Amino acid sequence: MPPGLDTEVQYLKGVGPKNAMLLQKLGLRTVWDVLWHFPRRYEDRRDIPPLMYLKPGRHCTAKGKLIDVKSRSIGKGRVVVQGVLSDKTGEVALTFFNQPYVGQQLQKALGRQVVAYGSVREGYRGHLELHGVEWEAIEDEDLDEFARIVPVYPLTEGVPQRVVRKAAKSAVEFFANQVADPLPTSLRSEEKLKSLAWCIHQMHLPDGDDERIEARRRLAFEEFLYLQLSLQMRRNEVKQEVGISFPVSTLGAASEPPPGALGSTLFAEPMKEGRTIWDEVHEMLPFTLTGAQRRVIDEIWEDMERPAPMNRLVQGDVGSGKTAVAACAMLAAVRCGYQAAMMAPTEILAEQHFINLHRLFDQLGIKVVLLVGKQTPTQKKKASDQAANGEAQICIGTHALIQEGVKFAKLGLAVIDEQHRFGVLQRMALRQKGTEPPDVLVMTATPIPRTLTMTVYGDLDLSVIDEMPPGRKPIKTHWKKIQDRSQVYATVRKLLDEGRQAYFVCPVIFENEKMEAQAAEDLFYRLSREEFQDKRVGLLHGQMKPFEKEEVMEKFRQHELDILVSTVVIEVGVDVPNASIMVIEDANRFGLAQLHQLRGRVGRGEQQSFCVLIADAKSEDGILRMEVLQETTDGFRIAEEDLRIRGPGDVMGTRQSGDLEFRVADLIQDSVLLERARQCAIRILQKDPGLTSPEFAGFVAKVRSKRSSEALVTVS
Ligand code: ADP
Ligand code: MG
Repeated sequence: MPPGLDTEVQYLKGVGPKNAMLLQKLGLRTVWDVLWHFPRRYEDRRDIPPLMYLKPGRHCTAKGKLIDVKSRSIGKGRVVVQGVLSDKTGEVALTFFNQPYVGQQLQKALGRQVVAYGSVREGYRGHLELHGVEWEAIEDEDLDEFARIVPVYPLTEGVPQRVVRKAAKSAVEFFANQVADPLPTSLRSEEKLKSLAWCIHQMHLPDGDDERIEARRRLAFEEFLYLQLSLQMRRNEVKQEVGISFPVSTLGAASEPPPGALGSTLFAEPMKEGRTIWDEVHEMLPFTLTGAQRRVIDEIWEDMERPAPMNRLVQGDVGSGKTAVAACAMLAAVRCGYQAAMMAPTEILAEQHFINLHRLFDQLGIKVVLLVGKQTPTQKKKASDQAANGEAQICIGTHALIQEGVKFAKLGLAVIDEQHRFGVLQRMALRQKGTEPPDVLVMTATPIPRTLTMTVYGDLDLSVIDEMPPGRKPIKTHWKKIQDRSQVYATVRKLLDEGRQAYFVCPVIFENEKMEAQAAEDLFYRLSREEFQDKRVGLLHGQMKPFEKEEVMEKFRQHELDILVSTVVIEVGVDVPNASIMVIEDANRFGLAQLHQLRGRVGRGEQQSFCVLIADAKSEDGILRMEVLQETTDGFRIAEEDLRIRGPGDVMGTRQSGDLEFRVADLIQDSVLLERARQCAIRILQKDPGLTSPEFAGFVAKVRSKRSSEALVTVS
């Protein structure tokens, strides 16, 4: 921070010690802090229309004289306070629910000019009301400021807008010019970015909308640029490491095991001469791969053949067949004389992968073992011994895989399924289980929109499976109200009679897993004793013992059960193609991405599948979610909608959101800018991989601090 900018706010013109205390509540101690405390929005007060032009259903700014304040009780201890604004053309009532203290504040402003912002509603007898109001009385001294675009700052309780505005104004007027620009002039002219000092000025005191937008664009670009530089640098570093070069394309050309392979007594037979790895893939899989799967497998194998460690993200919607792709990668590693490990986020999923992959690899004489936390100590010991001595070539598991004490004889490939459930920590930990840096393959279904892929996973190469296996019919989704339940049950019965199976998913209960299990049991009893007495109903929830869960899943898989009642434990990866209908109770309690994941459990077979959402959604978000799901099965669209509704922090989970907290930038609004920043970062690093040139001195520290914050995420 240049000297001068660390001046304490109390010395700013028009602030003083008393206001400085208030500003401190917002964490604003120095001039620098104030300059970087940007407005949340702006109010264009150059041209506020007369009150008669207020339009219901829109957010508007209103100005008028406060002529009346009234408050009334509306029962159950609830209070409405209204302040009436008036001008020559009309009136509007600023309306506050259950904020009795606003009444006193309004009383003080009675008779003065007030500016208010909120959403316009038509109230009693067509009188206009403003809801969700932000308001302030206009001081005489503000009058000269009046006809401008006025910044509206984020505040905290007890800090008036006026105080922040005044501090920002004098900070900008006296100090903004001292702000040095970390971006080199050449880069700024290439990207057509204005100077930082100018941008800070325009953020706080915009000359017009164009200037304000221009300023914001530069600041957002800069934020994206630092993030992209740090991600690209990490990616380049990994590429320079020396990892394993798997000779995939020459497999089968020689009868000798590849150099470096484990002793062949411990290991699977090497591949027979004259056979290629594709021959084995065809023998192993019960179906023909889709074009997209084949393309992605090729990309992976090419990557594996290179000496630098692979770091690849495979993205493919629910049901696109990521497991088969992973199996092909693992097969290549094994045939080249290495072991492969696959980590899944839940025991059910790990167990299911184990069952499927065991079946596939058994035909080729490759041994697969399972390692999950809740196995008996003997089982666990056996599995980890087999991993350690190389008897097992493939090891499937949960977090248990990355526990201390688990060793591999020769780990060459680590696959991480449904990555969005894991933090960066686990990705690194599994990687460290190899003696040489193993190749890493990360697989994820879509709840990650492209913009996020570019940020959180910007250090990974990307392969996309953009094609579904043939014969899939898009799932038909219907949103039903609670009173339609019996009709829904009749549909389920019809499908069961045709030989299909059904899932019933009971609502998420936020309090705890125990209550969730209880809800599942209640639903189970109701269905098995009443509506579906004559059918075979099973129950699955998180509180059950692992072997109980496995038993139920196995019965459902074998069609010894017609209905499976479950909590969200089945959300990820469970695969029973004959299950063709899913009923989700209280569907409005689930997030959009989660519903899409759940729904992906059906639609895996030849028959038409259905998903019924039972929900009395009333909130705007809730209705929107149900409608989006009815409309589309496109995971990418759903992911974008989800991001729009919930914001990136929630979508990614707090663990990984640290990198996504921007001051100015917005991942949805600024996705084009993000791509530009990415390209720019790549260009910069091509010329100067270590950012050692003096022209980058201004921001090297910022890029580094991004990187160390990632390191913190990794160890926390
Ligand atoms: P996801 O991408 O959600 O992990 P899975 O790998 O579980 O999907 O595959 C979903 C289902 O599709 C499985 O039953 C799998 O056997 C089947 N499958 C995968 N690829 C193909 C294909 N090319 N042709 C036919 N069925 C396939
Ligand atoms: Mg999967």
